[in-house]
Amino acid sequence: MPRVTPPDVDRVAASRAAVAARRARAAVKQSVADQRRSPGEVLDAGWANPGSAEATLRVRELVSSVPGLGPVRSARILAELGISESKRVGGLGVRQRAILRDWFARRERRGSAPTPSRLVVLAGPTAVGKGAVSRHIREHHPNVLLSVSATTRPPRPGEVDGVDYRFVTDDEFDRLVSAGAMLETATVHNAYRYGTPRAPIEAALADGRSVLLEIDIQGARAVKAVMPDAILVFLLPPSWEELVRRLIGRGTEDPAEQSRRLETAKIELAAQDEFDYRVVNTDVSQAAQEVVDLMAIHDEI
Ligand code: 5GP
Repeated sequence: MPRVTPPDVDRVAASRAAVAARRARAAVKQSVADQRRSPGEVLDAGWANPGSAEATLRVRELVSSVPGLGPVRSARILAELGISESKRVGGLGVRQRAILRDWFARRERRGSAPTPSRLVVLAGPTAVGKGAVSRHIREHHPNVLLSVSATTRPPRPGEVDGVDYRFVTDDEFDRLVSAGAMLETATVHNAYRYGTPRAPIEAALADGRSVLLEIDIQGARAVKAVMPDAILVFLLPPSWEELVRRLIGRGTEDPAEQSRRLETAKIELAAQDEFDYRVVNTDVSQAAQEVVDLMAIHDEI
């Protein structure tokens, strides 16, 4: 049998070369992260010299080294640009090179221009964890205004008036609606009324802040109808079984209410294709990060 294993000395040399190449790519990424080099310069270097660290760097790694662009945003940007995540800089075709170069150039031109404000609507079936994801965003991204809805539902233990909801009577709710104070309203789970107060949202958007609405699917549709720039995000459970487990596990509804909510959830899950983005809530902080990334993604494309 011919010997297939390279001699030891070659193996050592090869692994040394691999380590050196990895280090060189890491140095390129660091220089982009530190803004010592622009992504455009890295692209030019990679295309000028096919064997270089720049050429063998994955495009995904280059994009995610740019300050302000994490891995989630990079993945979405590449998907929108039609560039495979596994591509290396040197492996891009002529058209892809032009698209990527142009994208970085546009981003650079925008430079320090103020970030336009964004309205993001987070919806999804019952018990999927919208509340937990919004709370995480409230705690970690205080610049995002989390809209506080009005509801006729009584508070659950631990819920705070003015923070979780504005708890109102039926009459007060009617008054708010007839005063034109609501952006949208809906009766949810055939039980209580919920509505999004208009004024705080308009004020925050006028201030250039991002706004997050955590509402049901009818509400998401209604907001999109009056504010077409709103980004609709659908939060999905990892599986149907997990959704049932979360609903029963939280123990805040009696069995009749649980089955009513699960019936609604089936209908709601069918609406996911109407949404601009879908995020799977396996881990709350990861899902929250994906939602926050989406708040700026449109500025990047
Ligand atoms: P919960 O009673 O469990 O807090 O909320 C029930 C449902 O009402 C959730 O799907 C929640 O997203 C939705 N909801 C909360 N506030 C609003 C709102 O202002 N408008 C609409 N349309 N739905 C809301």
